[in-house]
Amino acid sequence: MDIDLSPQDAAFRDEVRAFLASELPEAVRAGAAASPTVFVEPDVGQVWNAVLNRKGWLGYQWPKEHGGTGWSPLQRYLFEKECALAGAPNLTVLGLKLVAPVIWTFGNAAQKAFYLPRILSGEDYWCQGFSEPGSGSDLASLQCRAVLDGDRYVVNGSKIWTTHAHHANRMFCLVRTDPDARKQAGITFLLIDMNQPGISVRPILTSAGDHEVNQVFLEDVIVPVADRVGDEGQGWALAKFLLENERGGSCHAPKLCFDLDQLDAAAARESDGRGGTLAGDPQWRRKVARARLAVQALEMIELKIISEVTKGRAPGPQTSLTKLLASNLRQDIDLLAVDLYGAAGLQLEMARPLYGPDAPEPVHSREAQLASPRYLNSRAWTIFGGTNEVQANIIARSVLGM
Ligand SMILES: Cc1cc2nc3c(=O)[nH]c(=O)nc-3n(C[C@H](O)[C@H](O)[C@H](O)COP(=O)(O)OP(=O)(O)OC[C@H]3O[C@@H](n4cnc5c(N)ncnc54)[C@H](O)[C@@H]3O)c2cc1C
Repeated sequence: MDIDLSPQDAAFRDEVRAFLASELPEAVRAGAAASPTVFVEPDVGQVWNAVLNRKGWLGYQWPKEHGGTGWSPLQRYLFEKECALAGAPNLTVLGLKLVAPVIWTFGNAAQKAFYLPRILSGEDYWCQGFSEPGSGSDLASLQCRAVLDGDRYVVNGSKIWTTHAHHANRMFCLVRTDPDARKQAGITFLLIDMNQPGISVRPILTSAGDHEVNQVFLEDVIVPVADRVGDEGQGWALAKFLLENERGGSCHAPKLCFDLDQLDAAAARESDGRGGTLAGDPQWRRKVARARLAVQALEMIELKIISEVTKGRAPGPQTSLTKLLASNLRQDIDLLAVDLYGAAGLQLEMARPLYGPDAPEPVHSREAQLASPRYLNSRAWTIFGGTNEVQANIIARSVLGM
């Protein structure tokens, strides 16, 4: 694996860096820095999406023919890395990285023409209706029922943990169309208009007080057959394709590295009570060094995957490995922050947002105020997109042949 940048790739990186230095709005950067949740709220995320869209870079993982950049895997990685190092918000993946590749790979011409531009323009905000009460890891057991009635489906059931359903006007959804078929074979992939009677969204507040996820109830919801992606009963294949993108769609190491650097810089501002700062404390140094080594190892694996993808090979089950490692590291780093701020890191501010003119005053510092909400929210990393145990099963089966 060659990890030196060619002069062209270095020039590309510099171009991205210069763009971020001049075009990343300060309010967006500050909003991202003070968001304890996995996804930033639309008042931050959609502003950044619009800036990137104006530049033609929002579809940075999209093929050119669908309005994307057509960048190479390495260019996409460099873009993500520079964005992370500049403190830009994580892009909301649901439309851009999850449903868009399903639509351009399996959708028909009309679906591509209608839906893809609306993702880039921000007209559509998507949520993911896969999990149900009782069907998470065992997703194929899902019960949400769709019955064909002429040229439309009538959908009844419930979805849970639906991220940002309260902001979304569209939901991509797995439904059961054939209850008698083998469980994987009876599933179909539908695109649902959320703005219709029969859909209700009930908030689920996290232990940190954030409203990020919901339960969605569907009662006699109407979906035209034209909004079915792929054939009836093909939904499981589309779901597997989408989940592989969800697990491996981004590089995690640069953002983890950025957060660790920020934390170490904060340690240099925190007194150790003995005339020095916590940055010089041997225990702190050991913990940071251990985390840094693990992040660097993760980055090497991510670069290796990029190198494979560049040669035309699918990333495959290795994405389960990076998802698992990144999730554990995310939690380790967020725990380090609670550790760093001591009692001030244990305060649990429930008011939101923690950015903007109405943000509550911190007791110690904004960073300390974020430590506990971040720590609690990052518990979700080892659950969403498939739990750690599920990733370990995939690695055992597909990578280790157990
Ligand atoms: C913050 C957050 C956001 C989410 N967003 C969305 C979303 O937008 N859309 C959506 O559809 N879903 C979403 N999810 C749901 C997520 O995908 C599920 O929570 C996840 O797949 C686990 O399913 P479950 O909650 O039903 O737990 P279960 O499947 O009931 O698992 C319970 C425990 O049993 C373990 N377990 C289960 N099966 C096995 C096995 N075979 N081997 C070993 N251990 C096993 C699990 O690892 C876990 O520890 C989100 C979840 C969270 C926390």
